Amino acid sequence: MARNRAFIFLGPPGAGKGTQAKRIAQSCGLTHLSTGDMFRDAIRRGSALGRVVQPIMERGELVPDDVVMKMVEERLSQPDCAKGFVFDGFPRTLPQAEGLDRILERSGFGKLVVVDLAVGEDKLMRRLTGRRTCSVGGEIYNVYDLPPKVDGICDNDGGKLVQRADDTAEVVKQRLAAYERATKPLTEYYRRRGVLHVVDASANMDEVSRALGEIVKRAEGRNGHL
Ligand SMILES: [Zn+2]
Repeated sequence: MARNRAFIFLGPPGAGKGTQAKRIAQSCGLTHLSTGDMFRDAIRRGSALGRVVQPIMERGELVPDDVVMKMVEERLSQPDCAKGFVFDGFPRTLPQAEGLDRILERSGFGKLVVVDLAVGEDKLMRRLTGRRTCSVGGEIYNVYDLPPKVDGICDNDGGKLVQRADDTAEVVKQRLAAYERATKPLTEYYRRRGVLHVVDASANMDEVSRALGEIVKRAEGRNGHL
């Protein structure tokens, strides 16, 4: 079992958790996990879980803990997680964190390493409300920082660029407020346990990746005692 290879990336929506988690998963041989991906997959398949979470996500609210934990426990029991994993955006609440600790203990993972990707609110608003996704190829643009050559049209395939329902200014404000409320006690919990690292995620993407890669390497270098 992959002791010392259980990583959690925390951070508000727009901090780049997903992108960074994918990069680190690839460069360090970890399985990338995200409850967002699990939910979207369930919605796409039209499963019972998908029908429960769809309206909740469209309102920009958080999915209830019992639903989330059920899904996470099942996912972590799959063979690709045995080599170690990086979870992005989970847990989001203290009860989820406690639930995750119990799951990890049962499944023989070592001590968690938690990274908080910190970004100021102005920068987050700009990143999130500016985001547009190609309806054909899924490419991601930002009207402020990474605009397409022609307004509203994908450079690669001419697809129409759309804004996700939960990226509008009003919903983004709600998401950031909900995130703050839910995760303050969570970061405190991990800080008290001495497993929390804070990384400045407003820096450029490569610098952030480098900082995260070093944290992973240092964690793997530990001698494995809890
Ligand atoms: Zn496209």
